[in-house]
Amino acid sequence: VEHLANYIDGLAVPAKGGGTIEVFEPATGRAYALLPDSGAGDVEAAIDAAERAFPAWSGASVETRSRCLLRLADLIDQHADELARAESIDTGKPIALARAVDIPRSAANLRFFATAILHTQTACHEFDGSGTPGGERALNFTLRRPRGVAGLISPWNLPLYLLTWKIAPAITTGNTCVCKPSEVTPATASMLGGLCTLAGLPAGVLNIVHGRGDGAGAALVTSPRVPTVSFTGSTRVGQWIAREAGPKLKRLSLELGGKNAAMVFADADMPATLDTLARASFTNSGQICLCASRILVHESRFEQVLEGLVERAKAWRAGDPLEPSTRHGAVASRAHLEKIDAAVKAARGLGAKVHCGGGVIGADELPSRCRGGWFFAPTVLSGLDAACSVEQEEIFGPVVSVSPFRDEAEAVARANSTGYGLASMVYTQDLARAHRVAARMQSGLVWVNCWLVRDLRTPFGGMKQSGLGREGGTDALHFFTEPSNVCIRVDQF
Ligand code: NAD
Repeated sequence: VEHLANYIDGLAVPAKGGGTIEVFEPATGRAYALLPDSGAGDVEAAIDAAERAFPAWSGASVETRSRCLLRLADLIDQHADELARAESIDTGKPIALARAVDIPRSAANLRFFATAILHTQTACHEFDGSGTPGGERALNFTLRRPRGVAGLISPWNLPLYLLTWKIAPAITTGNTCVCKPSEVTPATASMLGGLCTLAGLPAGVLNIVHGRGDGAGAALVTSPRVPTVSFTGSTRVGQWIAREAGPKLKRLSLELGGKNAAMVFADADMPATLDTLARASFTNSGQICLCASRILVHESRFEQVLEGLVERAKAWRAGDPLEPSTRHGAVASRAHLEKIDAAVKAARGLGAKVHCGGGVIGADELPSRCRGGWFFAPTVLSGLDAACSVEQEEIFGPVVSVSPFRDEAEAVARANSTGYGLASMVYTQDLARAHRVAARMQSGLVWVNCWLVRDLRTPFGGMKQSGLGREGGTDALHFFTEPSNVCIRVDQF
């Protein structure tokens, strides 16, 4: 059994208390590694290291910081095969997906912010005078300074991808950080520490503390020495963090759950739309916060979409995630498998029709290595009422419901009828309709005739119960910096 370590002050270290947590391979159901079960003492040590590293790192030139991150990105590329394999073993996701998406995107996150910082104005100058009571002429400029130690907390669905998405803007802008990766999928984060050392990142700039959410995670969130917290995970934990951090006036970015609707209008391009819907529903076993969960279809196309989706779901076959041809892997944990199964059972209880899938994939349908694994069949449901729990609550598995609508107003109302507001999708050939519907979506992201097309410069995040704040581009650079305006009277010199 492999022993994973924390990375504190540039060194691989175990938890002070010596405790460990078992890490499982979802495709086999077997424990394959032990993780430090860190507590407040380990988090304090990491914060100490981050505080010590802060003056030199924040004072380093942007070129120095940029070069460090670019070297780290190159190292991720050089170790892409190992990292993709580790990500696949740890999460249960197909290795082809880890190779094509998770690992290249992790390097891209670092390069994006490492170069953005070279081209971003850190101060903006302007003359003023006519508007002031005494007619004083003054020069205003705005310093944007790093905020100190940032706490970065990430979930299990896209481990290295989402962690680097936070690390890159945090440290290029001169902050130092303490990361708390998901205890369910710690493997690639634990490899990242060694790569940081190889990249020449000074000790203490980036620290990784493994452990449970209510242990290491909570200690990081509540520490008065961590003024900035960037969290991606469930709405339930996000709400708890907001409650804890609110009175301390911490700056928070919360990327939370979703219940994303895809609206298919009568004029949608077929069969391209069906192919996109299948990817949006079943990629990564539906464990992407941006996956489609509710497919709303104009009544004239309802049967066609239902049949087309079921046909594609049946072809979305499970296999060993480490086989390069596998498209459908395992889900992240036994507990998550049970949660998905309970949601589908609840749907049946509510009178839903199950058109395909509908349960855990049996051992006899899996390759021998994976007989003990946690696989859920791609599932298509219909007949659910918009207000029922299954249509309102996130499932985060390979499960979608299909429901008909009569007109645009009904589609928009139903799409917006949950407490969440992360992403929505519109499929139509009518450009006026696309604009009209997009402008009425209560979601932070709207995709028209596509899904998961991402430009890292654009604001990323959700509204309502899907979160607070935006990541990406300028939003992320602003989140991790504190503006301070300096006004100098110039007509007296
Ligand atoms: P989770 O909320 O259970 O855990 C996320 C992280 O928070 C983990 O590292 C966990 O250890 C930590 N944590 C748990 N309790 C904590 C506490 N009290 N204090 C501090 N940290 C704590 O989420 P998960 O199950 O790992 O991830 C799945 C969820 O993430 C889904 O709801 C999904 O929609 C969401 N998600 C959202 C986005 C987005 O960008 N909006 C992206 C990916 C995943």
